[in-house]
Amino acid sequence: NAADSPRTVALLPPELANQIAAGEVVERPASVVKELVENCLDAGARRIEVAIKDGGRELIRVEDDGCGMVREDVLRAVERHATSKISRIEDLQAIGTLGFRGEALPSIGSVSRLEICSKTHGAVEGTRVVIEGGVIKKVEACGMAAGTVITVQDLFFNTPARLKFLKTPSTESRHITEMLVRMGLSRPDVRFLLKKDDKIRLDFPAVDDLKDRVLEVLGREVYDDLFPTFEYPSINGVVARGYFSKPSHSQRTSKNLYAFVNGRYVSDSTIRAAMKGAYGTTMDRRRYPSAVIFVDVPFEMVDVNVHPAKTEVRFHDTGPIYRAVYHAIGDALAEAPWLEREGRK
Ligand code: ADP
Ligand code: MG
Repeated sequence: NAADSPRTVALLPPELANQIAAGEVVERPASVVKELVENCLDAGARRIEVAIKDGGRELIRVEDDGCGMVREDVLRAVERHATSKISRIEDLQAIGTLGFRGEALPSIGSVSRLEICSKTHGAVEGTRVVIEGGVIKKVEACGMAAGTVITVQDLFFNTPARLKFLKTPSTESRHITEMLVRMGLSRPDVRFLLKKDDKIRLDFPAVDDLKDRVLEVLGREVYDDLFPTFEYPSINGVVARGYFSKPSHSQRTSKNLYAFVNGRYVSDSTIRAAMKGAYGTTMDRRRYPSAVIFVDVPFEMVDVNVHPAKTEVRFHDTGPIYRAVYHAIGDALAEAPWLEREGRK
């Protein structure tokens, strides 16, 4: 009988603990791309180049011209719960960076062959660290430009259960492309490049205006149907702004619906409901508009530490969020000249 004998409790070895954590952070190649690109943005990169092979399974390389790391920091960065972004409990209440959990690099390193090359601006040489299945194999100096190059090879080579769940390379590439589209929309001022099997798949030049990035990312067809929202100063500190499509240009899926909270792409039911609500009866309830909406929320009103992947956030009060999005779109719609022309008003 299992109840008869006492159990021995032991700490898991760090490689295993990291592999378990990786299960939450690294679901598929696109999650690796997301974590690595977020790190580039947090490092102040102006240019981010992503290269993938075989849907990211064989290779994911992310290169940036951000602040880089000195040797000690590269070695610390691959430890669990090591981060430069927060240091005190109060920091959790005002997270201004995309990352803060200190989990991505150790998680990725535990389920792949990971190479980190990094050099700070002004340093004579960079550092190269190689990790396999969570174990540091090599630490050496290397010559490189300032910034960071992270290479992830053979993702999930040591976690066969995960490997089995990967879809075809073309499906995984699609998820990666979509991830870059989200990142690209969130930061028009940063140049993004995606190379797939050595061919350039995406190239978003850095621009000043969100509109130009939307055109580049979503294409002429979607862009031509977009209108700017009203810009209210703020509703309880919440500001919503962006672009939305005419009611007549709806779609069956929500795939062209992009929402960002404090610059972070989110999937949020309140914002989605507010967008739909704003269209009211001008749009079939089962259809979705195209929209790119940025919602700026005071830090104390939102908790981003809800899920390891951080695509879901929790609002302390959804009321102001709903109203800000609803009015930004709805009030602009109410004044739209084409509503009359289309005989809907
Ligand atoms: P987090 O982003 O939550 O801090 P990560 O595991 O993603 O945790 O990264 C750990 C640390 O490594 C970061 O806090 C940052 O200091 C450093 N780092 C990671 N990627 C880069 C990069 N591309 N450029 C500069 N520093 C980086
Ligand atoms: Mg990170």
